[in-house]
Amino acid sequence: MRKKIIAGNWKMNKTVEEAVELANAIKLDLAECKEVDVVLCPPFTAIKAVSDVVSETLINVGSQNMSSEDEGAYTGEISHTMLKELFVRYVILGHSERREYYKETDFWINKKVKKALEKNLRPIVCVGEKLEDREGGNTEAVVEVQVREGLKDIPAAAYTELVIAYEPVWAIGTGKTATSAQAQEVHAFIRGIVKDMVGAEAADAVRIQYGGSMKPDNAPELLSQPDIDGGLIGGAALDAASFFGIVKAGM
Ligand code: PEP
Repeated sequence: MRKKIIAGNWKMNKTVEEAVELANAIKLDLAECKEVDVVLCPPFTAIKAVSDVVSETLINVGSQNMSSEDEGAYTGEISHTMLKELFVRYVILGHSERREYYKETDFWINKKVKKALEKNLRPIVCVGEKLEDREGGNTEAVVEVQVREGLKDIPAAAYTELVIAYEPVWAIGTGKTATSAQAQEVHAFIRGIVKDMVGAEAADAVRIQYGGSMKPDNAPELLSQPDIDGGLIGGAALDAASFFGIVKAGM
């Protein structure tokens, strides 16, 4: 039985003061949550403050990106050491906004996934098709390349640590959610690719989140699908009551 994982991606939102307020509000409901793994991913500038707020709780802290390099002349980048120093456990890698606006490729995402695993950080590896891919009947082809390239040469044993997030790009921040049947179909497809790459045991163990306008009202149906093991939440993660509503649906 895979434990559900709900992660809030706060994106480029929240000053330190606002982040502390949100983390405190989430902590009121979820400090002792054992049924679901809860992860908060604030912007880099608020990670330390959020880590301090949740330090004595079961809530995890994640980052929204991480460099593939250890240290050195990489202006604007953040290393695994810097993140671990702030008690970060999870790192979102290859989010569609990074692929689209910052031209991150599967090659670099794969380097980051390997670095994260080597340093005992848990990658949340995002994949998903654009609207034109879906409309052109290319969803599976696009997602398959992202999974095979992004997770290239990752050993079977690592699949208990890493998380895959299936996020159809057309559903992110648009209010359009994939139907539970559409999402389940792609999740099962991804699990099948993992099985082909590294075997049935790893495929059965890996957690696959859905992301794309998940809200408290659509979460119960999405999270009841056999291959949907949680959610990566954008907009609804910025409101403590909505985020709690989604986590509750996963309990
Ligand atoms: C996301 O950006 O990962 C996301 C799923 O956003 P939203 O929930 O706002 O669609």
